[in-house]
Amino acid sequence: ADTMETLQSNSYNIYFNDALAEVVRFVENGHYSRFFVLTDENTAKHCLPLLREKLGDNDNYDLIEINAGEESKDIDFCIGVWKMLIDFGADRKSLLINLGGGVVSDLGGFAASTFKRGIDFVHVPTTLLSQVDASVGGKTGIDIDSIKNIIGTFTQPKAVFIEYDFLKTLPARQILSGTAEMLKHGLICDADYWNLLKESDLSQPTAEMVYRSVAIKNQVVLEDPHEKNIRKSLNFGHTIGHAVETYSLVHDEDSLSHGEAIAIGMICEAYLAYKKTGLSLDELNEITDVLTSLYPFYQLREEMNDELLEIMKKDKKNQNGNINCTLLNKIGEFNIDNICTTEELIESLQYYAS
Ligand code: NAD
Ligand code: ZN
Repeated sequence: ADTMETLQSNSYNIYFNDALAEVVRFVENGHYSRFFVLTDENTAKHCLPLLREKLGDNDNYDLIEINAGEESKDIDFCIGVWKMLIDFGADRKSLLINLGGGVVSDLGGFAASTFKRGIDFVHVPTTLLSQVDASVGGKTGIDIDSIKNIIGTFTQPKAVFIEYDFLKTLPARQILSGTAEMLKHGLICDADYWNLLKESDLSQPTAEMVYRSVAIKNQVVLEDPHEKNIRKSLNFGHTIGHAVETYSLVHDEDSLSHGEAIAIGMICEAYLAYKKTGLSLDELNEITDVLTSLYPFYQLREEMNDELLEIMKKDKKNQNGNINCTLLNKIGEFNIDNICTTEELIESLQYYAS
């Protein structure tokens, strides 16, 4: 569709139409000595064949594969990627293609941005979350223990290729994980988009919806690449959501997906917005209804509060030791830099729990 034009980001393009053909064009441009493809076990199985088909005779790449899951986003796997690049003889004119979800793009982006002081990389995101969020904006990173994204760089990819067809093999739970970020995009800056999403079947977002979310995220990061001001809008739901996600990673056998945790965070932070920044009660109820009907209920117990608050206190987004939230003035309008007291935060957790 001609409504899905290539988007321009900070000196790179985000391709949508026939995205895999664009990948091939990109590696054939003569700029690179060779290229490497980073996958996890699932994307090697489900996504790599589609790319290989497009590459045809050009499939002279070396493959680096990591285990699937957040556990791979750590320094040991990063060392593994660096060593493979060394063993394969990667030089400064090598290109790394990150074919996978947010774990692959964050780890691959970080490994590439530090290898020989930085080699070029591109993202071919294969999860909804990575298409609408992780692949755009230039944040790379790895975790230490359970502290997410604590080590990383701001390094822009040389291009992003968004192939909608990859979503066909993505499990339903992973689709819904990405949907949370799309709903967030509507809530923070586009009430029409929120209204469209809340009336749609979000078990199967359309290509146009993916495009619209990427366009919103791209617009925000273009205006504020290093998160000095308006990029903080994207943190709506993430102060509390990240804490719940981390808690769940540590304590639950079947831990919450990023989107499931962010949905909880958005409900709590919508409550804070109702208390602090003018979100109306009707809007709070609407947000709560939409999110609770889409995502499974997660039991937040009072005895979890201390640990959740401890995690929030370590949040990168804090300044001067205060816990900081992005809230909403109304649906479609964000409000950054709101300091929240522990009492307010606990009250918002109780709002969700009830
Ligand atoms: P993920 O990369 O772990 O992918 C989720 C699961 O889906 C994995 O098991 C993966 O193997 C599988 N998978 C991927 N593509 C598939 C496909 N097409 N078909 C079938 N299975 C497929 O996780 P994610 O949800 O994509 O990303 C989460 C990560 O992204 C987190 O580490 C988060 O911190 C990071 N993130 C980064 C940014 C950023 O700005 N850099 C933004 C948001 C999230
Ligand atoms: Zn997120």
